[in-house]
Amino acid sequence: MTIYNQKQQEIAGIISSNAKVSHWKNWRWQLQHSVRDIDIFEKLLGIKFAAGERKQLDETIKKFPLSITPYYLSLIDTENYKNDPIYKQAFPSISELQVGNCEMRDPLDEDKDSPVPGITHRYPDRVLFQVCGVCSMYCRHCTRKRKVGDVDVIPSKEEIAMGIEYIRNTPVIRDVLLSGGDPFLLSDENIDWILTEIKKIDSVEVVRIGTRTPVVLPYRITDDLVNILKKHHPLWVNTHFNHPREITASSKEALRKLADAGIPLGNQTVLLAGINDHPIIIKKLVHKLVQNRVRPYYLYQCDLSEGLKHFRTPVGRGIEIMESLIGHTSGFAVPSYVIDAPGGGGKIRVMPQYLISWSHDKVVLRNFEGVITTYQEPETYENFFGNINIDDSGLLSMFEGAEDYKAIGIEKLLSDLNETIALVPEKTERIERRDNA
Ligand SMILES: *Cc1c(COP(=O)(O)O)cnc(C)c1O
Ligand code: SF4
Repeated sequence: MTIYNQKQQEIAGIISSNAKVSHWKNWRWQLQHSVRDIDIFEKLLGIKFAAGERKQLDETIKKFPLSITPYYLSLIDTENYKNDPIYKQAFPSISELQVGNCEMRDPLDEDKDSPVPGITHRYPDRVLFQVCGVCSMYCRHCTRKRKVGDVDVIPSKEEIAMGIEYIRNTPVIRDVLLSGGDPFLLSDENIDWILTEIKKIDSVEVVRIGTRTPVVLPYRITDDLVNILKKHHPLWVNTHFNHPREITASSKEALRKLADAGIPLGNQTVLLAGINDHPIIIKKLVHKLVQNRVRPYYLYQCDLSEGLKHFRTPVGRGIEIMESLIGHTSGFAVPSYVIDAPGGGGKIRVMPQYLISWSHDKVVLRNFEGVITTYQEPETYENFFGNINIDDSGLLSMFEGAEDYKAIGIEKLLSDLNETIALVPEKTERIERRDNA
């Protein structure tokens, strides 16, 4: 396997007559020569769209712009491009303009859970921090499609500083997830600065970076970048491979560098109709990921964002895929399947059912083969640590910070010490009737 193959050489040659391997492997060259219009795209792949289709494609990219790195484009199988998983992720489909009636610009209400620009504070102890509005490629399935292209800017240092200030003033935040856009499109200096500033905050225990560069711009993972990242452990990186064909010599090299720097790697995949919605494809993908020291983290149900209708699969398809993974392959190769709740409820894990029944002293389970088995509950059980809410069980003296623990949500219902016996939505008709009586 080579990093620079015949096809890549040809593409580079069409883009610029004096292009060399060193250009191809330079991430800034790749970005400067990203394909942003259909004429060049046709020329590079040696294809031609029919006039009618072309007109609709032009309409589509006016609403949702096009941008593909030459590297990612070189992975398209030109012979069969219409069915190609790389093509479908990178090149617009005229279906994007058909807005279904349940689709929304901001289905996850990220804009509403935002205390300061760039920060989404949705979960108790962690935040999403959008530090860069730019991406190396505009993925057609992007959930933040509303933002892609129109805020193609890097937030100012002042804006980022405001986000950091929020984190500093909110000590419950122990985990900061840098996202975007793609944080790795910032310069090395800016990445270093952000990580240095966040590290100064005592309450932050880990930082994670979400990036698609290993997939669409693997040359961004330079030795210089990795040397900077190494200084800021504990640092985790999550990337976004959707198809086994995306794992190439170049992306493997990028992953190797990150893993060698001691960075735990995770991967988030979006389940996409016609791209990866088959057990065989996902299984191949997770196997290739773990071979490259990447732990599959999430398999996402496609969000209800505008323009994604043609990518959505039924939830049942996702469960079917999970059924084909759990038990069938290494536990650490199995991601969690999640639906990001419309309206801002956060990620919800969904799974096939394994606990099929229970009695007061036994549970009935089934395994991946269909074996039905029982687990006998213990005859006696002393709840040594006491209830979920901290009491005087001794936990307080065992470790620092135990006194801050407070049960939230369903956890509260399980706690005997908490007085909550039901969670009731506000303003139901029934409750309003009571109030009016
Ligand atoms: C996904 C997400 C996180 C991180 O969630 P984990 O389940 O911890 O990976 C945090 N904040 C927001 C807004 C998110 O969407
Ligand atoms: S890299 Fe991520 S944020 Fe950027 S377009 Fe792709 S999916 Fe969206």
